[in-house]
Amino acid sequence: MNRRDMIKGLGWGAAAGTLGWWAVPSATAAANDNDRGPEQKGEAPITITKVKPILTCPQGQRLTVVKVETSEPGLYGVGCATFNQRPLPVKAAVEEYLDPFAKGRDVDNIEDIWQTAYTSSYWRNGPVLNNALSGLDQALWDIKGKRAGMPVYQLLGGKCRFAVDTYTHSHGQDLEELEESVRRNMEEGFRHIRIQLGGYGSPHLSEKPHFKKHGFGKPSDGFMEPGPYLRMTPKMFEHIRNAVGQEIELLHDVHERVPPIEAITLLKELEQYHPFFIEDPFPPESNGYFKRLRQQTSVPVAMGELFNNPHEWVGLMTDRLIDFIRVHISQVGGLSVARKMASLGEWFDVRSAWHGPADVSPVGHAANAHLDLAIPNFGVQEMVHFTDATREVFPGTPTVKNGYMYVNEAPGLGIDVNEELAKKHPLPDHPGYWRPLRQRDGSFVRP
Ligand code: MG
Repeated sequence: MNRRDMIKGLGWGAAAGTLGWWAVPSATAAANDNDRGPEQKGEAPITITKVKPILTCPQGQRLTVVKVETSEPGLYGVGCATFNQRPLPVKAAVEEYLDPFAKGRDVDNIEDIWQTAYTSSYWRNGPVLNNALSGLDQALWDIKGKRAGMPVYQLLGGKCRFAVDTYTHSHGQDLEELEESVRRNMEEGFRHIRIQLGGYGSPHLSEKPHFKKHGFGKPSDGFMEPGPYLRMTPKMFEHIRNAVGQEIELLHDVHERVPPIEAITLLKELEQYHPFFIEDPFPPESNGYFKRLRQQTSVPVAMGELFNNPHEWVGLMTDRLIDFIRVHISQVGGLSVARKMASLGEWFDVRSAWHGPADVSPVGHAANAHLDLAIPNFGVQEMVHFTDATREVFPGTPTVKNGYMYVNEAPGLGIDVNEELAKKHPLPDHPGYWRPLRQRDGSFVRP
């Protein structure tokens, strides 16, 4: 049996549009073909025929996934390229640049395609091009898994754990409401819970925003004052620790909203409550503060959801200045980048906590989870509750039970996109800016 016959034996053509790639080529057929690559056998490689973006909004977030079609009938892959705030430039990057670049290239060569596409713009490491590249990259991993007859986590080395432990979110406008939410999440089986009072930065605790009265900015602009947030957050931890005890792991996201020196003071105050991690104490622009933070407190730090460029994460990891790397995997260029990042972290005691709210598509959550299963230095995975509408658009979306995330065990990423259903959830008219945020006098605050 030659390779082409083996491929036909996998039933891709018959199973197109489904997740049914479970057949594995026989050992005899594989052994006969072991010593020759497709070139020596005179076979044409399976090549990319189309790279196309699919935009959909079944759950309020502007999701972008990329579908890569191949010269093998019925064989395709999907990858996450979701940049909620700028989906249309990602769409253009895929249609106008990646599709013509990738057409005709051998689907086997993921790393080569990644490196050459990455440098094909000469200027690189921006969020638009990285997200587009991630869509192509993850789709190629999906295709490789389908060809191998294995879930992607097997290609990455196999399972290091039976499932992926996750954290969920608890928000409350006051301490009682927050405590209720934490208790509900504990009853659902979660062992890691991120606690936030109100939205990020507890804006409801701030005084009336004077800038609105004075007509500065737009009436829709948001507001927060660092002071009330900084004073209340230790009280929030104290309340929740006293209410639910020591057994639950508590997390919190500063969301880069306060001056760095204030963030250092806050983390020192929170040390006594033993948080699992505190996230984004500084913006990426203030990476230089991490050394000072480390000298002041041993609170575990998670960082990186805004990172685009290796210069932002390599030094923080190799200098052991953070404990969890939590990049948005499509934002850094895909699974190929994240698995290298995980390997770097293994040698420097940095664990993973990949970004995983609703502005990562279900395809991206699947990619997160496949990597989580396979790496030794997994930390925790952020999860989100997907609606039925989202699960219908993305059959095979990972499931969560008792706080653990499970991937669909079908070969590849185990997830698909129903293009017809995706069209029924068009993007909203609003372009999706992050709402400007201001202090009481109208001064700009990072989001
Ligand atoms: Mg965050």
